[in-house]
Amino acid sequence: MASKELVACQTIAEYCARLGIPAVNIETERRKGRKRRYLGTWFRNENTVYVKIRGRSVRSIRNTAAHELIHKAFKGKVHGQAFEKYVKALQKGQLVFDGRGLVQ
Ligand SMILES: [Zn+2]
Repeated sequence: MASKELVACQTIAEYCARLGIPAVNIETERRKGRKRRYLGTWFRNENTVYVKIRGRSVRSIRNTAAHELIHKAFKGKVHGQAFEKYVKALQKGQLVFDGRGLVQ
């Protein structure tokens, strides 16, 4: 397995564990017939995270993995400052919630 693919798979497994969510399918290559304009995508219907690895740094791959898993874990959460806070907290291992959301 290419090392960046390994980084993507290990990161996603690690973040799923932190979020307390079940494992997801992982794709790192563009699948034929699918538009993949983005660096990552969460395919809810297929329980699949796509993270582009080609030409990207490890740091950037890990950022995308965190971003897409926040989409999975917090359905309906829209992009914005709060979303980015969740992404950062996930990466730092600082996810603590109360009844209203993430505790800072
Ligand atoms: Zn997004």
